[in-house]
Amino acid sequence: MAFQAQPRAHAHAHAIILPFPTQGHIIPALKFAETLTSQGFIITFVCAEHRIARIRKSHASGLSPRIRLIGLPDEVPVAEQDVDQGSDSLLLAIRIAENMAPAFEQTVNGLIEDAQKESSIPPPLCIISDFYVSWSQDTANKFKIPRYVFYPSPCSCLALMLYLPHLIEQGIVPLAPDARDIVIPGLPPMDGSDMPESWKQNSFMKERRDFSFRNLFKLHESSGILVNTFYELEGEAIDAASTEAINPNKVPIYALGPILPSKFFRGEPIDQQAFIQTDNECLQWLNAQAPSSVLFISFGSIAILSIRQIQEIAKALDACQQAFLWILRLPTSATDQSTLFPEGFLSRTHNRGLIISTWAPQLLILSHPSTGGFMSHCGWNSTLESISSGVPILPLPLFAEQHMNSRMVINQFKVGVKLQRGADGVAENENVEIAVMELMQGEEGRAARRRARALKEQAARAVSEAGSSHKALDAFIQAATITHTQT
Ligand code: UDP
Repeated sequence: MAFQAQPRAHAHAHAIILPFPTQGHIIPALKFAETLTSQGFIITFVCAEHRIARIRKSHASGLSPRIRLIGLPDEVPVAEQDVDQGSDSLLLAIRIAENMAPAFEQTVNGLIEDAQKESSIPPPLCIISDFYVSWSQDTANKFKIPRYVFYPSPCSCLALMLYLPHLIEQGIVPLAPDARDIVIPGLPPMDGSDMPESWKQNSFMKERRDFSFRNLFKLHESSGILVNTFYELEGEAIDAASTEAINPNKVPIYALGPILPSKFFRGEPIDQQAFIQTDNECLQWLNAQAPSSVLFISFGSIAILSIRQIQEIAKALDACQQAFLWILRLPTSATDQSTLFPEGFLSRTHNRGLIISTWAPQLLILSHPSTGGFMSHCGWNSTLESISSGVPILPLPLFAEQHMNSRMVINQFKVGVKLQRGADGVAENENVEIAVMELMQGEEGRAARRRARALKEQAARAVSEAGSSHKALDAFIQAATITHTQT
């Protein structure tokens, strides 16, 4: 059984969780909060006020009573609060995250004072905070409680991030335009072109680079790093990230993923705890489709495709007669959906395609028997959700660590089919069509599906009672609660 509730000695342990304020970070953090409550913890979940308001609304009854939500003033005008829409949203999220520091400190102080006044809630024994809110390390130091980093990306990426001080020292980062084989001890060479845009020389993203470096250096000061991955998927990277060459302070790495609802792994119906209201009609549409026949297309919570890329995908779908479910966020420059597509596209695909522009219950879609493939930006949550559902991937990475994830999907995990793109990054319709057909009906697609299904089994085993992720969770809880007893 996966991460099941059990009576524990640490039934009164209290932890604070502080995610970075975008959906790709909040969703796994909230799921991890649920995991810890099933192990007897009380969780104080802290984030920007408008994000907490959304969680309250969408989780009205579904959230464990052992999770307390606290919203911090974010001073973001209402019109700008949708941090996950639009390509500049990361900068806004960064501003929100940086602004939360003083109020967070007051909150921690308040929680400690309340506990001293014999409140029924004990003092927090640790802060579990996203790697992108590393100022919380100073808060943790101030109150003499350990900080554990929550890392919702792959461990290969973590190894690279931990190794960053060496790469800077060696003059490799900022990256030269032709940087190719970046050597991280214990791992296959990484391609410079896959690295975050802000790490490159002359990058116009200076604000992002400073933000990223500031946060990554702090990884080395934490008491442990909780990674949303599992040993059977990324054993080599987990071992490498634990070595002195990369991790000189020997910060413990806990690979305890995939962080998904335990019911999901038990094959029980899940009430997808969506971050915002979901469109469940698409599930009914999926019910009417043949097994493994539908291509699911979605690019996460932040990315918006260019109009040209949308048109190339549409032309390919039109030509290859493939059934599809497409979560499409309108580019800001497009006025309405119908003007985006080739003439007659919507009527021609009406019987075999569904396009929705609202938030979709992605995990339910991926685990639906009709879903046979996933065209994805390879955000790490999406990648893990696809693997955990046994669905092969057609990667179309856009930014951040998505290029690295995409390469792993193809070369290392072998659960994907490669999509050829032009020098401008756009995948032309002929190439999209070839890749879609290969994924859904070709031999490569069948091999990727077999491998994805095998990894799905391994993921379920990893989080089961004797599995690697379950053991890592136990080790983390033991470390956190022992530290607590000693302070
Ligand atoms: N997601 C969802 N419905 C949507 C879009 C996204 O449930 O319509 C979820 C998805 O299942 C995943 C997360 O949002 O858990 C996106 O995280 P990911 O790391 O894949 O990408 P990001 O949004 O951070 O780019």
